[in-house]
Amino acid sequence: AARCIECKNKPCMKGCPVHVKIPEFIHLLKEGNIKAAYDKIAEDSNLPAICGRVCPQEDQCEKYCIRGIKGEPVSIGALERFVGDWGMANHAFNANRAPSNGKKVAVVGAGPSGLTCASDLAKLGYDVTIFEAFHKPGGVLIYGIPEFRLPKGLVGDEIKELEKLGVKFEMNVLVGKSMTVDELLKEDGFSAIFIGSGAGLPSFMNVPGENLNGVYSANEYLTRSNLMKAYDPNSPTPIKRGGKVAVVGAGNVAMDAARTALRLGADEAIIVYRRGREEMPARHEESENAEEEGVKVMLLTAPLEVLGNEDYKVTGLRCQKMELGEPDASGRRRPVPVKGSEFTLDVNTVVVAIGQSPNPLIRSTTPDLQTQKWGGIIVDEATMATSKQGVYAGGDAVTGAATVILAMGAGKTAAHAIDEYLKK
Ligand code: FAD
Ligand code: SF4
Repeated sequence: AARCIECKNKPCMKGCPVHVKIPEFIHLLKEGNIKAAYDKIAEDSNLPAICGRVCPQEDQCEKYCIRGIKGEPVSIGALERFVGDWGMANHAFNANRAPSNGKKVAVVGAGPSGLTCASDLAKLGYDVTIFEAFHKPGGVLIYGIPEFRLPKGLVGDEIKELEKLGVKFEMNVLVGKSMTVDELLKEDGFSAIFIGSGAGLPSFMNVPGENLNGVYSANEYLTRSNLMKAYDPNSPTPIKRGGKVAVVGAGNVAMDAARTALRLGADEAIIVYRRGREEMPARHEESENAEEEGVKVMLLTAPLEVLGNEDYKVTGLRCQKMELGEPDASGRRRPVPVKGSEFTLDVNTVVVAIGQSPNPLIRSTTPDLQTQKWGGIIVDEATMATSKQGVYAGGDAVTGAATVILAMGAGKTAAHAIDEYLKK
């Protein structure tokens, strides 16, 4: 904290998607006033202990820190984590709520966007109910990001704070199946709805053999491990443990899956990625940690087919070497197959981590909700209002797979817009 020179133009703040007042909180920290530093962060961020751990600070606040020009930036993320942890340990969460205004708001999905929206609305006096498909709230914070990166106790503590604010949780409710958005509005008395249903639909490679026993989407692999206790051999939803695991893709999700595979006893976990190291989408910190733990990275390699035996169990992954050609639409150099370079990786598990998109359930049961071709809900970015009156949306359901802090920012914007809408 002492390295922060409290720049007048606050460049670090411009890099923060929710504009946490960084120099101000660091100033309070320098004075030793941790409670005030916590309150300062809490003005803009609801989950500092979580963001301090999972935000890509090197591409956000720390990227713009003046001290980074000639040396290391101030470790803003680590300071936020320290203050956030102190807040959790000392129950510093502001649970003050305005008197009830008698209006009901429904939130679909208990991920960071939904939790943030619910918290801000409850503080404004709304009667908020969160409907969540899983049996535990937290979204990707619980079922995606593994315990070794984000202790689940922290997420549980944040949720208890929401309960103290009077937010109700209805678990195991799949909106679009158990009830529709229209039914919530017309029959259940909700005056507005926030959809924070995330991007949980995994993409697949579309190569032969992808339906063999031993091929998982990263979502399924991580969910079974994090939420369904699949690490326990007696679990009703076990996953294959041990052997050699190929993880296809090189983003943060792929790194989490590969590190989880090692923890589940894999002899080897290999990241298979069709581009080069520079193009890897994972945070540098994540790929570095993964490699330090022993995850192998096989670059310029594309899977062609998953091979199996007569019991439909995976026995290998047939691959092809690639080289980098001209940049494609994404600006990254296009991988081009190298002729005659096919080879087989000897693995018994394949985890596919090549992206996710929003689940079509809500859009297919809400006719007047406009969405992009790829499934993202279309919103007015200033208010997060959708094409349907009284319905707002944010987080990965709108942007596609993105970050925790962006999802929280969207939840906050929507809560304030819903308040304006319902006050009219
Ligand atoms: P989610 O967190 O996906 O929550 C959506 C919730 O809605 C889920 O609980 C889901 O069960 C529920 N739901 C869905 N459909 C329905 C329905 N029809 N009815 C009721 N409930 C429904 N971001 C970072 O910033 N840093 C990281 O290090 C990072 N690592 C990641 C690692 C993994 C493995 C994954 C998968 C993602 C990671 N992300 C990371 C991305 C980040 O977690 C997401 O961007 C963020 O969680 C999105 O929040 P959300 O609230 O929009 O959706
Ligand atoms: Fe402090 Fe760096 Fe922000 Fe300047 S840019 S106020 S040095 S954290």
